[in-house]
Amino acid sequence: MKKISILGSTGSIGRQTLDVISQHADKFRVTALAAGKNIDLLIEQISIFKPIVVSVEDQETASKLDSQIGSSQTQILYGQEGAEAVAEIDGADLVVSAMVGASGLRPTLAAARAGKDIALANKESLVIAGEVLTAEIQKKNNRLLPIDSEHSALFQALECGEKHHVKKLILTASGGPFLNTPKKELEDVSVELALNHPTWKMGKKITIDSATLMNKGFEVIEAKWLFGFEPQEISVWIHPQSIVHSMVEYIDGSVISQMGKPDMRIPIAFAISYPQRISMDCNTVSPESFGNLSFQNVDFEQFPSLSLAFDALKEGGTMPSVMNGANEVAVSAFLSEQIKFTGIISTVEKVMELHNTQPANTLDAVLESDLWARNTAQSLIEN
Ligand code: MG
Repeated sequence: MKKISILGSTGSIGRQTLDVISQHADKFRVTALAAGKNIDLLIEQISIFKPIVVSVEDQETASKLDSQIGSSQTQILYGQEGAEAVAEIDGADLVVSAMVGASGLRPTLAAARAGKDIALANKESLVIAGEVLTAEIQKKNNRLLPIDSEHSALFQALECGEKHHVKKLILTASGGPFLNTPKKELEDVSVELALNHPTWKMGKKITIDSATLMNKGFEVIEAKWLFGFEPQEISVWIHPQSIVHSMVEYIDGSVISQMGKPDMRIPIAFAISYPQRISMDCNTVSPESFGNLSFQNVDFEQFPSLSLAFDALKEGGTMPSVMNGANEVAVSAFLSEQIKFTGIISTVEKVMELHNTQPANTLDAVLESDLWARNTAQSLIEN
């Protein structure tokens, strides 16, 4: 029986993780859950999975939850400390890190320090603090397993050979809803259109990041920290069907890919059951369900975010953290219709230009640069 805690249990990845767990009640038990403010769903999850501890965003939400489930056996915590307590809880073997954005960093670090295996969906943790987080994980010698579909694919393809025989990691990208939108029309796309991803159903933040391709930029940085490859060893191909989830090219010309329908429960199941595999109720694949597969190069003019991410990775230090902080502020400004779609990446670019890169080997340095980036982005947006 593997005992699992989930950070972000009411979000898209959290819900799908619980779906996988409920299909295999004989293999997994839920120890603790951290959520935000969606207590209706959390109450449902508590009654089904009976966690020992739950944590919510703030005290007010905790009181509301307490008044509704007062007599339950589940202890209620809140805030940053509550989320960290969920991450560190005694008895859990694995923590699914699926909070949105930089808020996931501290609890993920807490899980690493407590010696838990981590199934990581919160890629921002690695973008912001890759050096700090991977150092913590190495210290305890625990596993960092990707949930991101591309990295799950790379992880599986990398098991087919030696690292020094790898020529290139090839991340695939669907291209999002604006792959074929003329560049000059991008300025006026609506929030609704940007939220309409062609192949994946996901939360709002990552859906916008997929529309700008910033998500792919984050994934390039994530790949560096997960697998230890340099920027020039990582490339991105557009693959609109999202069937080939990524590939590894070996020096002998062999290319190993992992394929499957775009269903996040597949990489979730792989991560939480590793090194085993578990059966899933996904419909069997067929020629029709895979269809015609196509690949093309990325148009870096259409998607300048990807150039920024490669620049940030080459620059290193606090630059990726700054890119992420500015992006989070710019995405929420776009979602609340304060800036245009193209304003997201131009804001990130300006903040990066203004940044003086510092070493990123301590949590304080990383958090300081994150705060600076948010404040700078905010003032650029307001003016
Ligand atoms: Mg992905």
